Amino acid sequence: MYQGQTLHLTRLDNRLVELCFDRQGEAVNKFDALTVEELRIACKTIGDAGDVLGLVLTSAKDSFVVGADIFEFTQLFARPESELAAYNLAQNQVFNELAQLPLPTVSAINGLALGGGFEVTLATDYRVAGDTAKVGLPEVGLGIIPGLGGTARLPRLIGAAASIDWITSGKPQTSATAKQLGAVDEVIDDRRVGECALAVLAEAVSGQRDWQARRRQRSLNFALDLEHSAEAKATTMTRHPLVPAPLLAIELLERSAGLLLAEALAEENRTFAQVAQTQAAQALVQLFINDQYLRKKTRDYAKASRKLSRAAVLGAGIMGGGIAYTSAASGVLTIMKDIAQTSLDLGMAEAGKLLDKQVSNNRMSQMQAERVLESITPTLDYHGMDTVDVLVEAVVENLAIKKAVLAEVETQVADSTVLASNTSSLSITELASALQRPENFVGMHFFNPVPVMPLVEVICTKHTSQQSAAMVASYAATLGKTPIVVKDCPGFLVNRILTTNVLAFVRLIHDGADYQAVDQAMEAFGWPMGPAYLQDVIGMDTSRHVIDCISQGYGERMLPGFDHAVELMVAEQRLGQKNGLGFYRYDRDTKGRPVKSVDPSTQILLDRVQPQGRRTFSNAEIAERIMLPMLLEAARALEEGICESAIEIDMALILGLGFPRPVGGALKYADWLGLPAVVERCDHYAALGGLYQVPHLMREMAAKNLKFYS
Ligand code: NAD
Repeated sequence: MYQGQTLHLTRLDNRLVELCFDRQGEAVNKFDALTVEELRIACKTIGDAGDVLGLVLTSAKDSFVVGADIFEFTQLFARPESELAAYNLAQNQVFNELAQLPLPTVSAINGLALGGGFEVTLATDYRVAGDTAKVGLPEVGLGIIPGLGGTARLPRLIGAAASIDWITSGKPQTSATAKQLGAVDEVIDDRRVGECALAVLAEAVSGQRDWQARRRQRSLNFALDLEHSAEAKATTMTRHPLVPAPLLAIELLERSAGLLLAEALAEENRTFAQVAQTQAAQALVQLFINDQYLRKKTRDYAKASRKLSRAAVLGAGIMGGGIAYTSAASGVLTIMKDIAQTSLDLGMAEAGKLLDKQVSNNRMSQMQAERVLESITPTLDYHGMDTVDVLVEAVVENLAIKKAVLAEVETQVADSTVLASNTSSLSITELASALQRPENFVGMHFFNPVPVMPLVEVICTKHTSQQSAAMVASYAATLGKTPIVVKDCPGFLVNRILTTNVLAFVRLIHDGADYQAVDQAMEAFGWPMGPAYLQDVIGMDTSRHVIDCISQGYGERMLPGFDHAVELMVAEQRLGQKNGLGFYRYDRDTKGRPVKSVDPSTQILLDRVQPQGRRTFSNAEIAERIMLPMLLEAARALEEGICESAIEIDMALILGLGFPRPVGGALKYADWLGLPAVVERCDHYAALGGLYQVPHLMREMAAKNLKFYS
């Protein structure tokens, strides 16, 4: 009857019609503008035919429809709210046309039916799902709400409480749960979904199932317990303080409950357009796209790299031990070399503990764990080093030692082995000068704790070959990490930008701010921990060393020029969590974990680095003074070509520093504020020194009102 590029209509026996989603040239079905347009044509074709008795919706792919085409969202959400509402209303109209066809309709759900893919099934009278199928409305994960009828149709099917749960959690639901709540009518063996859907349709056509009564009933209002929704609102505000979507979705349901379906749909449309304009929606949608971009890049590294099966790690300390464990657990045979037997023993014991945890959490069998442990070869000599594809150096942070260690190991490995240093602050270019084959050398900056932290910076010098970079990036991906390739510069990317954060923090303290107020303001902004607490966790001496190395690398712009709080803490031997006292005090709980409390002596001590005494700053001023230098440094790194794109810079900050996701990364945040506004605020703080100095590129872009993400 109709053949589109995303779906087709076919006549079946008994005047029934099948609408099959089957996007040409792609592995999955998704709801983009083209699919909606073709759905409109399909509904019209069915209506015009005049003789169709029933319609079944199916999919020719492994999944029904996986969701919206998120790549369309960025341009769409950049439109003014009224335009977006009008666009979405038109899309909704197509779903209404499907819902109002004068014949019974059934969806045959296989695999995933999420977002718009689930909403289209809600516009049909019945749903039959395969036993491994999942349905759900994951929109809040993108900072938005369902906009194709989900918030209006779902509560009329499964009630308000379950709908609030589904919509605010965004979780895909099993077909069994969906059946229990009434979101699907039948669950059946995956292979028999189509057959069962046709049987349900036949029953509706014959009048055995009263589809018209169902439609009438579902076009009315529904009951909502205001006490329950108030509780849900309180929970969501605590869980997602920076993402308004779930809260607005609950408020929408509260309004929708007393309305007829048509009015509720209009209400949803207005709220959808409003939510799409929030900072969280704009940031989270961009992050989805960024993530896809990085995945593609990682696949390209793997293609450009030769296959890797063996690795070695030098140093069995905190980092080396973690890298060796992660490498072995990812299926790579790994040699772990140290100069001290005690370190090797500790490294192996730590790997053993991590594996025991995997076994007790049922993530690995005992046998698998034993095999992983056996695939780590602890050694004090260079035996076997000539067989490894990649070698990661993770010995003590000392330039002379690292240079000597790297030069020595280079004589023990094959000519093709790529060497990588896990230094956190030393120049990769300087380390490369010790080597005969600098083209085979990169920085490979892991974050602590290695098994948990998702980012690895791959740092290239001007000598590094593309194959070496691709090999190490691909090794990082094998370890389950996201590699981001950066050019060598002091601090690389993440610690360079973090340093501006720490410097802005010590400057605030210098100017009289209360360290607890700073932490509270930054935590309210969305950071997992404020800067004072972060110094305690990193360790004051480590932090000071990193700040010194990095800020010296950038000269005056990053030199504090005053005695600062972190220096003072080091001088007082208040090293943070590691010795129980830093900005805060740490006692151990029964499991040995540090418990933070306020120490009355801290503020008295800090008086020494507050020459003008104490002063109160608003949360907004604190956040602005700490965030702006990070934005500027990110822009500067982009201008210098440290990363290829704004995407990589923002993702490195999110994955490496815990930059608040609903803010989207430094450059996305700069876009949100507007570059002219960022420049104006930095100029306002110019007297505070080089940290607030606007780089050339940003000033130029601001003058033209450009964005980093266009
Ligand atoms: P660590 O002190 O825990 O471990 C260093 C290990 O190297 C020790 O076991 C030591 O015996 C061994 N070693 C020393 N000389 C050696 C040699 N010639 N050959 C083989 N082994 C040798 O240190 P760490 O915290 O694991 O740091 C290691 C590297 O990782 C440093 O460059 C550090 O800057 C970097 N780094 C550390 C962190 C962190 O949070 N700890 C984060 C990122 C990067």
